[in-house]
Amino acid sequence: MDMAKFQINYLGCGSATPTERHLPSCQVIDFRDRLFMIDCGEGAQLQLRRMHLKFSRLSHIFISHLHGDHFLGLPGLLSTLALHSVDSSVTVHTFPEGIEILRRLMRMFCHDTSFALHYEPVDPAGGLVLDERSFTVRAFPLYHRVPCVGYVFEEKPKERHLRGDMIRFLNIPVSRIKDIKAGADYLAPDGRLWLNSELTTDPDPAMSYAYCSDTRFDMRVAEAVRGVDTVYHESTYLSDWEHKAAPRGHSTAAQAGMIAEAAGARRLVLGHYSKSYDDDSLFAREAATTFSGEIIAAREGLRIDLL
Ligand SMILES: [Zn+2]
Repeated sequence: MDMAKFQINYLGCGSATPTERHLPSCQVIDFRDRLFMIDCGEGAQLQLRRMHLKFSRLSHIFISHLHGDHFLGLPGLLSTLALHSVDSSVTVHTFPEGIEILRRLMRMFCHDTSFALHYEPVDPAGGLVLDERSFTVRAFPLYHRVPCVGYVFEEKPKERHLRGDMIRFLNIPVSRIKDIKAGADYLAPDGRLWLNSELTTDPDPAMSYAYCSDTRFDMRVAEAVRGVDTVYHESTYLSDWEHKAAPRGHSTAAQAGMIAEAAGARRLVLGHYSKSYDDDSLFAREAATTFSGEIIAAREGLRIDLL
């Protein structure tokens, strides 16, 4: 088990309907050996197998909105989990209407199972949805044709690194170590005060990932993901279809770049490509006209390590 892991797996990068080249939206975050799925388009459970992501490690599923290309993989995935998962549990985070649909489906197809399925309603206005020991997940509003949210996964600030030489030299008792890692100074028995900066070095930076699902171009999105390291932003179209993007509640690659630039992101990941285009590299090229950081055009099977 890799305790430092924070990896994004791209299972589906297309929009609207599955095609020969792309599957609908699905991403899985592998965080210290637990899996967190965001959106669940058709084909998600097959992609989990193809990418060797273990069903038994899946703990939470976050849904951005109730359009088929982000939701319809769930009934199949959940019924597989109900068949095979003994004593495991999964929590689905979605709007109350989505919970209602899933409850009905599970009542019809998945009774007599020891698999525990939990539901957590998501507020379309956003807010904290998960608070774990080492990271949080929060939702924020997007601007689509139906209520829609994005999600930010953020590590909590990490502990400072101890300087082993100083700890040994001063013979600091174990009982003080926790406070020193958190930033405390140390008062030695001889009365001398050792500053924390003499005993520790800076912690590793806390990493963060934003998932900006279906949305038209709106600067409030940049505001919501300001300071996030790696930003995924949908880029359904290129600028030649900009006039169609906003009315349909979608963005162009250039607009995705503008959001990432305004947010101060280090890296932009693109996806949710319209099937009208057959060369994904065009999306990255267009986003480079508005974003100065690293750009990755997602494809099925891609993995990105944030650490
Ligand atoms: Zn979509």
